[in-house]
Amino acid sequence: MYQIPLFDLNYGKEEEQAVLETLRSKWISMGPKCVELEKRFAEMLGVEYACAVTNCTAALHLACCVLGIKEGDEVICPSLTFAATVNCIRYVGAVPVFADIYGNDNLCVDAEQIEALITDRTKAIIPMHYAGFPCDMDNIMMLARKYHLYVIEDACHGPLSEYHGHNIGTIGDIGCFSFFSNKNISTGEGGMLVTNNEEIYRKVKLLCSHGMTTMSYQRASGHATNYDIAELGYNYRLDDIRASLGITQLSKLKEDLKKRAQIREWYLRYLSELDFLEIPFKEHQGFVSNYIFPVVLKGSRAEMRDVLREGLHDNGIQTSIHYPAIHRFSVYKEFSRKLPNTEYVTDNEVTLPMYARLEKEQIEYISDKIVECYEKVLR
Ligand SMILES: *Cc1c(COP(=O)(O)O)cnc(C)c1O
Repeated sequence: MYQIPLFDLNYGKEEEQAVLETLRSKWISMGPKCVELEKRFAEMLGVEYACAVTNCTAALHLACCVLGIKEGDEVICPSLTFAATVNCIRYVGAVPVFADIYGNDNLCVDAEQIEALITDRTKAIIPMHYAGFPCDMDNIMMLARKYHLYVIEDACHGPLSEYHGHNIGTIGDIGCFSFFSNKNISTGEGGMLVTNNEEIYRKVKLLCSHGMTTMSYQRASGHATNYDIAELGYNYRLDDIRASLGITQLSKLKEDLKKRAQIREWYLRYLSELDFLEIPFKEHQGFVSNYIFPVVLKGSRAEMRDVLREGLHDNGIQTSIHYPAIHRFSVYKEFSRKLPNTEYVTDNEVTLPMYARLEKEQIEYISDKIVECYEKVLR
């Protein structure tokens, strides 16, 4: 047990109550709670359609399927992300083409790098909004229009993050969100696919439940008795137990994100002056989700970063790395390219604790320990 963990669930009696109610209703698989969660999520984001799914990995896979991405196609994506962003490209047999990030101050994929990688085979771009800070969507959407590409936003880090008056996840053709335990909205496992395109939504709905033309809840409520398997689909449904957790979490989200914004301000106050640290997105204006709080060591190496992390660990502070770069993993070696900015960050980034219950004194403690432990690094 860490004195200050990396993340802490924002759960209370409300979540317990919500689950109990669902259990007692005796409808525990996909049903009315999923419908309610989809409706509330779509309203919250200002998007036409939302489809609840088992996890974001399923959402990303469905996105690739319904957009017709297939073997021989290329999809441009970051390497500084979680494996699921890229695995979905491989699920449909397409080739991931890794684009570099801007640098230590902006960990999102660089739009100019994307353009340089576009070929006749490019079918889509999957930007990932790192920590909830929006990618350069104006330029990414401009490229998509110019070269006739689809855009699938990996918005796992960013429920309610804003970009020029829009919520991230609602700008591209499809947006994918995760409700995994440590995300801003936690249901254990869970996710949501959103789109403004009715045709995409219909295809997603079909594929996420075996390709069946009616759902069991519709049949149980007497609206349908028969079904066809119209397409080769999957079972990527969410269940009502998790959906009821999601509904409760949604009602707490704005307050949770406000606290995170405050915590980020405290971190900036204590860490901005340290000349050995770069704080990514430091100058960013606009509301973001602050899913995680990354810092990057300047003029450093992986060994130095690891010594700093060990020091923080010894002081009861849990840290992490976001992310080990995908192009270095065994299964992705064959798609590897030179990505100097990504490689620097993957070797020198440290993710500090971030969750709504953190207090100012704890941020001060973490900051003091960073300075103290960095001195060890230099020795
Ligand atoms: C968590 C995460 C995913 C995967 O989400 P799951 O719901 O666990 O499948 C994908 N991409 C990013 C960037 C994530 O952080």
